[in-house]
Amino acid sequence: GEFLYEMCEGILASNYPVPDRMLKLSEVIVGQYLRREMIGAYPFIGEFDVFAVEGGTAAMTYIFNTMRENHLIKAGDTVALGTPIFTPYIEIPRLNDYQLNVVNLDADVANGWQYSKQELDKLRDPKVKAFFLVNPSNPPSVKMNTESLEYIAEIVKERPDLILLTDDVYGTFADDFVSLFALCPKNTILVYSYSKYFGATGWRLGAIATHRDNVLDQQIAALPKEQRKQLHERYESITTEPENLKFIDRLVADSRTVALNHTAGLSTPQQVQMVLFSLFSLMDTPDAYKNALKRLIRSRKQALYREIGITFDDSDVNKVDYYTILDLEFLGERAYGRDFVEWIIKNTKPSELLFKLAKDARVVLLPGRGFGTQHPSGRVSLANLNESDYVQIGRAIRELLGEYVERYNAESGKKL
Ligand SMILES: *Cc1c(COP(=O)(O)O)cnc(C)c1O
Repeated sequence: GEFLYEMCEGILASNYPVPDRMLKLSEVIVGQYLRREMIGAYPFIGEFDVFAVEGGTAAMTYIFNTMRENHLIKAGDTVALGTPIFTPYIEIPRLNDYQLNVVNLDADVANGWQYSKQELDKLRDPKVKAFFLVNPSNPPSVKMNTESLEYIAEIVKERPDLILLTDDVYGTFADDFVSLFALCPKNTILVYSYSKYFGATGWRLGAIATHRDNVLDQQIAALPKEQRKQLHERYESITTEPENLKFIDRLVADSRTVALNHTAGLSTPQQVQMVLFSLFSLMDTPDAYKNALKRLIRSRKQALYREIGITFDDSDVNKVDYYTILDLEFLGERAYGRDFVEWIIKNTKPSELLFKLAKDARVVLLPGRGFGTQHPSGRVSLANLNESDYVQIGRAIRELLGEYVERYNAESGKKL
């Protein structure tokens, strides 16, 4: 009865969202969905809170802002990024609003896009206040392996102050996904979006989750007196005990400039839709929808690579394949040898190949550079075209490379 009431009232939308962070039963259901998809069978102690937001986009905007307003990050501080990464994570820290120093932890294509221990060790530096991770990654589309997850959890034991943000919007596409949120619940802010798994970017549905017992709240409580006083004044209009306002509720307040806290929150029909997606997925046993989606993207990838004419190792259990990166150095070297790769890098301007592909074949790939890749590369999304389109993209790429191979042969006298 209570559930039907919440859904009906939600869809009628005749009231502001109450509670503003999230409707009560909606939070329980979305929480169950996140638990199943992000935590699974991993032992998880305690409870977490959820804030329903306008997609992963709003989640990111709100989190950066509230971290700054609550002195968890300030201009000149250092944060770490797991790169390559969804471009906004590169751009936001550079904005005048934040002015953060950034340390990149580079995943290596030759290492199956995993982070080496050496890269992860950068998190041991106490200067690093927070680590922002997209897992499974965008664009390499690989989930972090168990070894790395456990390695980070070890580092966190040594650095209990380290704040982690894991953006797991692709988690549902991975096999047996376990989020960093499951391993380091007290340090981690979980970001999730319904955009990708449900092909529903227009709905603007996302969620932020934090453990009830977390280091964000602890760090805010331990701020110097002057800053606590200032924050007391900031949040005084919405609660009689501002010092006890949880980080996640500060996110809600800040999302509407505190003063509009009472009208904050995701529109109730959107919350209803979020509940429907969550319930659908919770009832998707035994994973019929999930497996169909995985088959679809993986089969498109095979078609693409088959047409380009390169084989790839399909045994990596961490591959997700929502996107694929065509890394010129890595794939070019395997297909045509190191000498050809060096020649092509020397004889083409950055992005020349991508521009030519766009001009000649009308195939537009995003440059990997925008996501912080180390080598020249292009990103192909496997999510939004038919398999026959990927066949055509693959052919266009093969033809383009063929032209360069001919030029290389002519200039070098070799025969590839
Ligand atoms: C697409 C994407 C988002 C944004 O999601 P929306 O819910 O559509 O705003 C956030 N993070 C990552 C890593 C994404 O790929």
